[in-house]
Amino acid sequence: MATYGLTSEEYNLLLAAQGGRCAICQETRRGNLAVDHCHRTEAIRGLLCARCNGQLLARGARDRPEVLRRAADYLESYPAWQVLGPRYTHDGKDEGE
Ligand SMILES: [Zn+2]
Repeated sequence: MATYGLTSEEYNLLLAAQGGRCAICQETRRGNLAVDHCHRTEAIRGLLCARCNGQLLARGARDRPEVLRRAADYLESYPAWQVLGPRYTHDGKDEGE
């Protein structure tokens, strides 16, 4: 398990403070939680699962919080629905209307 820059006591303290979960998606598989750090400042940020650490933050948002805020807004309010009205990819025959 990766515990870069933390003693095992510090890791366990942090893990307990996070309720044994990934700080973002709440994943609980303990073996999956790695120490996340800022690649620019090398500051230790917290414990994250591989998906949140490697894909969501690093690949997807590239550590930009404003991107993640916009992503949350996007999923809660589709731009296409704002402009075009609610619309699905199929023709609606399965919708029962
Ligand atoms: Zn996660």
